[in-house]
Amino acid sequence: MNALTERVFVGLGSNLDEPLWQVSRAFDELADLDETRLLAVSPCYRSAPLGPPDQSDYVNAVAMLETELAPIALLDALQAIERNHGRIREIHWGPRTLDLDLLMYGDRIIDLPPRLRVPHPEMVNRAFVLVPLHDLAPDLNVPGHGKLDALLENQSREGLQRLACL
Ligand code: AMP
Repeated sequence: MNALTERVFVGLGSNLDEPLWQVSRAFDELADLDETRLLAVSPCYRSAPLGPPDQSDYVNAVAMLETELAPIALLDALQAIERNHGRIREIHWGPRTLDLDLLMYGDRIIDLPPRLRVPHPEMVNRAFVLVPLHDLAPDLNVPGHGKLDALLENQSREGLQRLACL
């Protein structure tokens, strides 16, 4: 890895087809990405679903990587992994075998809607992202939003349960 390496955080979520297994397989696939190294993974968490009712609970986690891939190249790679998991984009916020969100890319603020916005616009409102992120990087500053500690103070952890990943 050279000086162009950036530390990035990727959020993982699944609520179909054995979610713990989907997430564990995705960790391996993230580790195999070109020009990228998997630095650490958070514990897994079970969370109550957002969006349409009658969905199963989600399993969520966060991975910390370092990469030389440019942001859009990394997003393409994440979407290729999602496709490998048989994800079909049908219902907004509906059930999914695997959802990968590029949460943070170094300290950068990237505004290329609708393709890519970083930090991920919803991350600061989601305990199921902030809690595993805090497990990995408690001192983190989220560009444009401030310290992770302070962001977590505004979040209820209701419905969030720590699990062992596979
Ligand atoms: P979702 O259904 O939540 O997975 O949203 C996927 C769409 O959001 C894709 O079309 C992406 O191009 C777009 N998108 C914008 N910003 C991001 C981001 N930071 N991480 C992942 N997808 C993003």
